Amino acid sequence: MSDKSKELFEEAKKFLPGGVTYSLRFFEPYPIYIRRAKGSRLWDVNGNEYLDFWMSHGAVVVGHNYEPIMKAVKEQLEYGIHLGWCNEWEVKWAKAICSWFNTDMARPTNSGTEANMYAVRLARAYTKKVKIGKFEGGWHGGYDALHKGVSYPYDKLASLGLVEDAMKDTVLLPFNDLEGVRRIIKGLDLAAIIVEPVIGVAGNIPANREFLKGLREICYEKDALLIFDEVITGFRFYKGAQHYYGVKPDITTTGKAVGGQYFPGAGAFCGRADVMELLDQIKRPYFWERVFHGGTYTGNTLTMRAGYTLIEELERNRESIYNHLEELGNLMKEGLEEVFSKNNFEAYVTGLGSLLGIHFTKERPINGLTAERTKNSVIAEKLFHYMINNGVLYQTPVKPYIFLSTAHTKEDVERFLTLMNGFIKNL
Ligand code: PMP
Repeated sequence: MSDKSKELFEEAKKFLPGGVTYSLRFFEPYPIYIRRAKGSRLWDVNGNEYLDFWMSHGAVVVGHNYEPIMKAVKEQLEYGIHLGWCNEWEVKWAKAICSWFNTDMARPTNSGTEANMYAVRLARAYTKKVKIGKFEGGWHGGYDALHKGVSYPYDKLASLGLVEDAMKDTVLLPFNDLEGVRRIIKGLDLAAIIVEPVIGVAGNIPANREFLKGLREICYEKDALLIFDEVITGFRFYKGAQHYYGVKPDITTTGKAVGGQYFPGAGAFCGRADVMELLDQIKRPYFWERVFHGGTYTGNTLTMRAGYTLIEELERNRESIYNHLEELGNLMKEGLEEVFSKNNFEAYVTGLGSLLGIHFTKERPINGLTAERTKNSVIAEKLFHYMINNGVLYQTPVKPYIFLSTAHTKEDVERFLTLMNGFIKNL
């Protein structure tokens, strides 16, 4: 129990709507207030320790408070963080991003949401077309044109305040269903298709390779741009999920870890020079002939230096980092499947590498719809509270999705599996 969390929440409700800064962080009876983090562990305001499988919305790949990044950032604090001028770290960062995603040019944004907003704008400017294809259950942030069909049922308005006009050119598509995509877009003139290679909010469900290759072909056929939203996947796979799948998008958007995992101002979009040059104020001196992008905090030294340091670390320790993530992910996936089959319990495990989803469904989830329509949220909520009571955290109560990091160990995975086994036996 965390009585200090309860007290804080009572106070928070007076000043923050719903008592929280992001509604997804709320759970019954009150959220736990975290004070400190290190590696794979969190400590709340009462000093209770937790094993963390949420890893800051999946942003943290090499563990909380990773020493090389903290060291770089401490040094940078002395020099200044928000300078509002060009600085050396944005150049190093951009070069590192382009090398990581094997592309020509990049720009930093303040969030994943912003990265996607600018990517859509860029695609529309480049193709001189308007319509955007996005997938059911796909989450690209709160930008109006992409805030459609995120939560099931997908035909409901995703938020109050969204107007039909802002979303009328957004076409909802079924993930992992190439035939379905072809049927829906037949006769439509698309500017772009945006897709997460591993769809996150819908359940950490990986795309089939053939599906992504098919989308690539469709975009070539239709003269549309393919945008990969690698906000979650960008640094969880060496050189992004696009490298793993062997499919090259025209524009990549990313976020979270791109700012060194812990710092806001974490977002980027990058791509081919002929697309990105639409932003170039030297080649296009008049504002009406170029695509606007910018922001007060874009390129701040803290985020740029932290992001650059992370990429350096990921490159330097490439083998140990990505082998470890894959090994742990497989251990967790196979272990969970074994727990479910041994107990004759119907549940499915999805995922790829360090991303995993547990699904209490009656069908194998291959996309948002199949992850949602038969889902048993009551069991999911029971599991969530059982795990918290045993010192294990993940988000959300109805979405048991797991993010691993290099700070996790085989023992951490085994602890989760033992707990899951106990939970199923006592259901
Ligand atoms: N795209 C994806 C795939 C995401 O998971 C998220 C955030 N969870 C976003 C975009 C939005 O990023 P941000 O919260 O930084 O705006």
